[in-house]
Amino acid sequence: MLTSHIYSLMRFTPSSKFLGFSNHFHSVIASSFSLTSKFPSSIAATMSTQNDTAALKTHQPLQIAKRLEKFQTTIFTQMSLLAIKHKAINLGQGFPNFDGPEFIKEAAIQSIRDGKNQYARGYGVPDLNIAISERFKKDTGLVVDPEKEVTVTSGCTEAIAATILGLINPGDEVIMFAPFYDSYEATLSMAGAKVKSVTLRPPDFAVPIEELKSIISKNTRAILINTPHNPTGKMFTREELDCIASLCIENDVLVFTDEVYDKLAFDMEHISMASLPGMYERTVTMNSLGKTFSLTGWKIGWAIAPPHLTWGVRQAHAYLTFATSHPFQCAAAVALRASDSYYEELKRDYMAKRAILVEGLKAVGFKVFPSSGTYFVVVDHTPFGLEDDIAFCEYLVKEVGVVAIPTSVFYLNPEEGKNLVRFTFCKDEGTIRSAVDRMKEKLKK
Ligand code: GLN
Repeated sequence: MLTSHIYSLMRFTPSSKFLGFSNHFHSVIASSFSLTSKFPSSIAATMSTQNDTAALKTHQPLQIAKRLEKFQTTIFTQMSLLAIKHKAINLGQGFPNFDGPEFIKEAAIQSIRDGKNQYARGYGVPDLNIAISERFKKDTGLVVDPEKEVTVTSGCTEAIAATILGLINPGDEVIMFAPFYDSYEATLSMAGAKVKSVTLRPPDFAVPIEELKSIISKNTRAILINTPHNPTGKMFTREELDCIASLCIENDVLVFTDEVYDKLAFDMEHISMASLPGMYERTVTMNSLGKTFSLTGWKIGWAIAPPHLTWGVRQAHAYLTFATSHPFQCAAAVALRASDSYYEELKRDYMAKRAILVEGLKAVGFKVFPSSGTYFVVVDHTPFGLEDDIAFCEYLVKEVGVVAIPTSVFYLNPEEGKNLVRFTFCKDEGTIRSAVDRMKEKLKK
């Protein structure tokens, strides 16, 4: 009862046409869904989070530090809640609807039975640090010291946070490529960084090198890259990485690189920035277990960096989370030693899913942009005549029963993403086909 009451109140944002609510609720709602926010208040407004409920119950305005006030409930959470509410097929948030491999789950269960249940060593259980360095050597040819250059974190999201909080000072400029994964901007804001972005534009989302050159200044401390790239599926080419690398060396800039989709590289070889000449010394490479092993809920990630950069990362990690789940770290070490056939099969499976989704979306009538890696594909929704990505996603969830992610939230200037929405294919083939069928039936040009 209370929940449905809140839902109906939450639909009335300050920008909405409905104004039939009291001043008190207006202030609560206004503070939680700020007018100045670039986030989709119309979607946020249909949500009720725990905080909203608490605020309404106690009649207290929501409180939040300035460094976070412009950020809304993450778009992934918002869209997954809408999927449940409308019983829609969720091709939004990137989590597999199938389970990770038995041998890894068994290893975790065994570790719990073996009593690996107290704090792990802060920067990672020794065997996992070794397994990560072995994997990195196999993938990139680089030999790193598991004790001095590898830090285990709670998922890549914490690796990103530890890297940024450990190495960025307030006022430092950090450059991202838009569209960018949402935690980058929020974490940079927590660190007091000055955020700058260079936009990757369809159809190929190539890096505009001249724009990048012009945005680098003497205050630029780091460039954040993500390859394969979420949400576009773009993979950075060797030429692009070479150009970025020489700019970084020339201007003494660090690179933070999020490579969590490295094993989902379909159409070209994944290249780690750290492996380019002169780059290891200035690069933090971040990765995780979740995507490669379909275990996104385990939250095991890591950062690899030379000792002089690892120091900052580890200090931040030590005071953020101190250590990560002990039994899951033990199982992660087993996972990373999976045979080559595991990785080959994973890639084969995902390529089949990608083909089903891409063909399906084309048949529905979308303009589909090529996705070379990740489990995402971005389309232009404008053939269907909806005003922008938010309006399209709202229509899609309510009238068609399918969830996608609006991309405007991944830009400093949301206008740049208003034609694009992201679908994921990390679902079983039946689910992907059903979503396509719903769209074929109900989406009309
Ligand atoms: N990385 C996932 C995605 O892009 C979402 C993770 C999250 O919900 N924060 O869909």
